[in-house]
Amino acid sequence: MEELLERLLAECRPWTERGRVADYIPELGKQDPAALGVYVIGSEGRHSWAGDWDKPFSIQSVVKPILLLQALMDNGIEAVQSRVGMEATGKPFDAINAGEQTLDSAHLNPMVNMGAIVMCTLIHGGSYEERFRRLLELTRRMAGDESIGVDEAAYRSEKTHGSKNRALAYLLKSYGLLEGDVEEVLDCYFRACAIRVNCRSLAHIGAVLSNRGRAPVSGERIFPSAFARYVNAILVTCGMYDGSGEFAIRVGVPAKSGVSGSIMAAVPTRMGIGIFAPALDGKGNSLAGIHLLERLSKELYLSIF
Ligand code: GLN
Repeated sequence: MEELLERLLAECRPWTERGRVADYIPELGKQDPAALGVYVIGSEGRHSWAGDWDKPFSIQSVVKPILLLQALMDNGIEAVQSRVGMEATGKPFDAINAGEQTLDSAHLNPMVNMGAIVMCTLIHGGSYEERFRRLLELTRRMAGDESIGVDEAAYRSEKTHGSKNRALAYLLKSYGLLEGDVEEVLDCYFRACAIRVNCRSLAHIGAVLSNRGRAPVSGERIFPSAFARYVNAILVTCGMYDGSGEFAIRVGVPAKSGVSGSIMAAVPTRMGIGIFAPALDGKGNSLAGIHLLERLSKELYLSIF
């Protein structure tokens, strides 16, 4: 496996020169576009890795499935569905999913920004601090790493430059889709996106999802299997935003991307995969990361289709 990963990394490295590092969050613009790393955790507990797997980065949108899981654990499936829909938007992650004069919950899903911002309001807790603490706790359990914290520079950078997300949140509020104090909700969302992880953390998270809610090796049940089914299905249809259809054809596994250049993939019953390659394609997905997963999927017959 290590040899395979090393070979695929070498084959995909040229793609790191073709994409662009995100800079609408200035802190992300400082990332090294040449970085490339992968980490795989098999269902039997075997770990394999190559390249810059231990470089830390902010989780960004890969936190969205964890936000959804926490919302499901606190409220159940029906309550979550009544607040945010489950259909692919076919639009960019930060799109304003409103019609001419309408914006209803069916236009959203938890993998785009508007849906994820609503998820922040569904997490139980007396204060937003406590809500965030509970989300961080779930992230640590899934990632198998108690030391995971927040990248303060990424958090401050997005909080200062997050006008688009601020606009999305106020729009949700104006349509009655968001309860609570908008700035507090946004603070929770920005903090969530700034949780600092590496490829191994993402492989762990993918392994729990691929194992239907149980941590591999320890067997600890973190959430019910029905929630894993829910999240994995949404990852297939919406996890790569408006690139989800092409990704399903080329790779064919539940996965989530983030603008820091990471991809978390959960191959049902088989493995969790974490990838880091910060140069992005036009849709905000890791360019070399998708190529790496495509090759890995072909070599190991990972596609679920
Ligand atoms: N924090 C980022 C944002 O809201 C996350 C987006 C992403 O990773 N696609 O813009």
